[in-house]
Amino acid sequence: MIVREVRVKSALSRSGLPEYDYALNPYLGCWHGCIYCYAVDFIRGEPAERWGEVVYVKVNLIEVLSKEVKRLRPGIVGVSTITDPYQPVESRYRLTREAVKLLCASGFHVSVQTKSALVIRDIDVLRQCSDRADVGLTITTMRDTYRLIEPNAPSPVVRAATVRKLAGAGVKTWIFLGPIIPGINDTRLDYEPIVKLASETKSQLIIDRFRPRGVAVRLIRGRLGVDPTPSMKWWGEVRRSIEELCSEYGVECMAEEDEWRDRRARGRSILDYLG
Ligand code: SF4
Repeated sequence: MIVREVRVKSALSRSGLPEYDYALNPYLGCWHGCIYCYAVDFIRGEPAERWGEVVYVKVNLIEVLSKEVKRLRPGIVGVSTITDPYQPVESRYRLTREAVKLLCASGFHVSVQTKSALVIRDIDVLRQCSDRADVGLTITTMRDTYRLIEPNAPSPVVRAATVRKLAGAGVKTWIFLGPIIPGINDTRLDYEPIVKLASETKSQLIIDRFRPRGVAVRLIRGRLGVDPTPSMKWWGEVRRSIEELCSEYGVECMAEEDEWRDRRARGRSILDYLG
């Protein structure tokens, strides 16, 4: 991995995702190098051109963030939206840890999403603001095929253990089961263990289908030889099968598109989170 230190002028950005008010990305580029990653389409320069090889570290992030939290209205912060905030470089720079501390202390709600067990290191910080923090682990399949699509990410077994550890420590957890790609991770063998994990840890399950984008489609076609374009008929069947399992195991399950619609209808629920 090539690591380059850069300086930034802003830390929080307005999020393009309806469920968040702000996005915070301490790093640019992501060592996990998932071939379905949409982030590569949203960034420019070396980290995008050498996806999974080059990571930029925003070394003055905390200094900039400490000024921003004084003038911005508190809201929900997605940590992170275009990079994994607990990828290996975080063990050295600790930017995510310091940012979560600062955001929580300043009245913001922090919603972390990661594939890494390194988040366990920060259980102390997350517990301190447990009413305003949640952690989501992305798990696309419990089978070894994860290596085909997430070459440098921790194994699903490690991610499952991370959810258990966080939930056991009283941190609010959720699991993102997605993206589900036709012919790759769309069988019951892929997702039933994940539904069971959600049940065991009382985590909400959020599911989503693969949403075709330029680079990801090219990579999946080129490396795996499958057409990842989902049909709505296929998605309807997969979604129904997962929802039936959720009913069976007593899991709160929500499709990403429903969650967005729901939160929009509720006026983006900042007050729900803070109240
Ligand atoms: S961990 Fe997330 S941000 Fe990193 S490559 Fe995978 S999908 Fe993209």
